[in-house]
Amino acid sequence: MQLFQRNCAGCGLPGEPICDRCLEAAKTPLPSRGFEQLDSYNYLGAYEFELKACVLSAKSGNRAVLRKFATLAGEQIAQSVSETLVVSWVPASSRGKKQRGFDQSRYLAEQIAKKANLPVRQFLRRVAGEAQNGKDRIHRLHGPQLKVVRAPPPEILLVDDVATTGASLNAAAESLRRAGANRVHGLTIACVL
Ligand SMILES: [Zn+2]
Repeated sequence: MQLFQRNCAGCGLPGEPICDRCLEAAKTPLPSRGFEQLDSYNYLGAYEFELKACVLSAKSGNRAVLRKFATLAGEQIAQSVSETLVVSWVPASSRGKKQRGFDQSRYLAEQIAKKANLPVRQFLRRVAGEAQNGKDRIHRLHGPQLKVVRAPPPEILLVDDVATTGASLNAAAESLRRAGANRVHGLTIACVL
């Protein structure tokens, strides 16, 4: 008997939060993609098909799917990480958080840190009142307005769920550099190619 049966966020079949078939399908060959403010950038796959369904499911509150991604990422990071690395995230707009009830990037960052045995801290927050009508298009091009809330460590891993133009990651990395970070790495589940 299986109580509380889960369905794959990619294909909807019962079983894992993401089934192995969908994960394999999501792992498209990765073209190198640089964001100018990041020292390195990694993502699992392209933002399409099964992986897009998984990210949208995560956005609507599917924590199990985020934990699965965190396990995958955490295992990789644990193998190849410097001891000074601190995990953080690109903060969601307060409007987005209100709609979803939680910040999926924060949750993902916390889970990755746990799996990789690294510290996780908040360094950035959105400048209040910036998520208004008409601003969304500007954010996609230039990234959100961010405020550094505490002095960053030398090396940071910035986590987000999806990179669309890379503007959010770039804006976050730039803010952290200006505040004193030396190396900023980016990690997302998916990337719009
Ligand atoms: Zn599936």
